[in-house]
Amino acid sequence: MIKAKKSLGQNFLIDKDILKKITNTVNIKNKIILEIGPGTGNLTSYLLEKSPKQFFVIEKDNQLAINLRDKFHDQLTVINEDVLKIDETNLFKNKVIVFGNLPYNISTEILSKWIINLKDNFWFECLLLMFQKEVADRIIAKFNTSNYGRLSIISNWKLNIEKICDIKPEAFKPKPKIDSSLLLFYPKKNYVKISDPNNLEKITRIFFNQRRKMLKKPFNQLFNGNQKILDKLKIDLNLRPQNLTLDTYYQLACEYEDLRS
Ligand code: SAM
Repeated sequence: MIKAKKSLGQNFLIDKDILKKITNTVNIKNKIILEIGPGTGNLTSYLLEKSPKQFFVIEKDNQLAINLRDKFHDQLTVINEDVLKIDETNLFKNKVIVFGNLPYNISTEILSKWIINLKDNFWFECLLLMFQKEVADRIIAKFNTSNYGRLSIISNWKLNIEKICDIKPEAFKPKPKIDSSLLLFYPKKNYVKISDPNNLEKITRIFFNQRRKMLKKPFNQLFNGNQKILDKLKIDLNLRPQNLTLDTYYQLACEYEDLRS
């Protein structure tokens, strides 16, 4: 009997319909799979039935990693590590499909790490990831809405994002207090080239530091009131950070880099 560890965000998915839905969302036959936090291997079993070519899992919990090796033998390569410490870009020679019912306490950290470290040759074909619904809502939020912010801007930079479904707490054991959502991420073919993604992080951090205030203060802090940039990007400083589109933020990051080059 496995006792779930709260510190590792262990809520195991037990609803067979949801497990099937996740498995059937992407065609994985003959593909290379990476599952983050496979836990007791519930989703893993369903995915294996679809005949992937190779299957890697990253599980931090030592005991669960031992159990997974015992249960699945050579069907899986079990990496008993913290996903935040792994450099996926160097781990795989070919593109992988990533699945993850992510530990909620570090889900945004995992996603941000992947996006910030993304080189132009993406290491994954797509990501199918579960988040707490409140976080998923922020990831897919459109501009002019209250959920729109740093996470939406950073997540949508290089990735197209589609919501697959919401999932009720009853689908898990132990039952979490919150609803979850399943999101599918695909690399974009075209995206604004920002040389250093940390500049996008910096700009969004400063703009959204006071999300209810007008744009004037953060703009002046970053761009010293540069009128040319305001005219070029058609920015009205009386607006609020949530009123600027995704593209305006990507362009602002480029302008910021130009000013420093
Ligand atoms: N995928 C399983 C399922 O759906 O039943 C379990 C999901 S549970 C929400 C999160 C899993 O991620 C747990 O197995 C936990 O041990 C693992 N985990 C937590 N933090 C981790 C980390 N930093 N690196 C890798 N795995 C982690």
